[in-house]
Amino acid sequence: MSRTVYVNGEYLPEDEARISIFDRGFLMADGVYEVTSVLDGKLIDFDGHAVRLSRSLNELEMKNPISKDDLLEVHRELVRLNEINEGLVYLQITRGSDGDRDFAFPAEDTEPTIVLFTQNKPGMADSPAARKGAKVISIEDIRWGRRDIKTVQLLYPSMGKMMAKKAGCDDAWMVEDGFVTEGTSNNAYIVKGNRIITRALSNDILHGITRAAVLRFAREAQMEVEERNFTIDEAKEADEAFTTSASAFVMPVVEIDGVALGDGTPGRVAPRLREIYLDEMRKAAV
Ligand code: PMP
Repeated sequence: MSRTVYVNGEYLPEDEARISIFDRGFLMADGVYEVTSVLDGKLIDFDGHAVRLSRSLNELEMKNPISKDDLLEVHRELVRLNEINEGLVYLQITRGSDGDRDFAFPAEDTEPTIVLFTQNKPGMADSPAARKGAKVISIEDIRWGRRDIKTVQLLYPSMGKMMAKKAGCDDAWMVEDGFVTEGTSNNAYIVKGNRIITRALSNDILHGITRAAVLRFAREAQMEVEERNFTIDEAKEADEAFTTSASAFVMPVVEIDGVALGDGTPGRVAPRLREIYLDEMRKAAV
């Protein structure tokens, strides 16, 4: 079935949607995005994504073409039109096009491009992958220095994912100056006893919307949270590890660079946090 997508104010069949070949998103990766998950046909943490979107746009001095209320309406309409019960809504805003290629930004009155589409993912919450846990490899983090801005420059993370696949693993954790920054498309954590350790927020990592919620729930559940750097060697010796993202929620990590964590199966903390996260976020979905 062909999806209905949203492009610059219009709902269209996916094969009728059009963007200029001069669009800055296409030529320069001059664009930002958000991915919001859908459970029970409702949006998870829409507010968090809308706030981060505004921040990304502000940091890049890009105009926001849509109000938060209208954006919510478009998300809901696409979920309805495409009959999404479990899945994702992808949103991208680029600096648009003034009909040519130039390194300099286009004229002030150039309209941004806005695109949204859905991805149907039945079984996303009750996922076999989460019951099994993920195997990760470590790779050098060679991305640019503003990873806090959610840009569409995803070539290196894609390459990292492929390096993991070639190694028979699920994902890669990136390492800079000896310390783990984050996963290719998720934030990274280790667990020692009752303590959850994750890198502190800075320009070095994306400020995960799921990260914020999971750390809040962890503190509410009387777990200790320590926001600090950790190395791959420390991670290999941890009791557990996991990642968080809007599309995979809380994902246990059971192996790092070929070393099994604990008995090589998801531990106690990550599955519990996943359950709390899913329960609480379903209740708050809009
Ligand atoms: N870090 C990176 C590099 C990511 O791409 C993502 C997901 N887009 C995350 C972290 C997790 O962020 P969120 O919880 O907001 O999905």
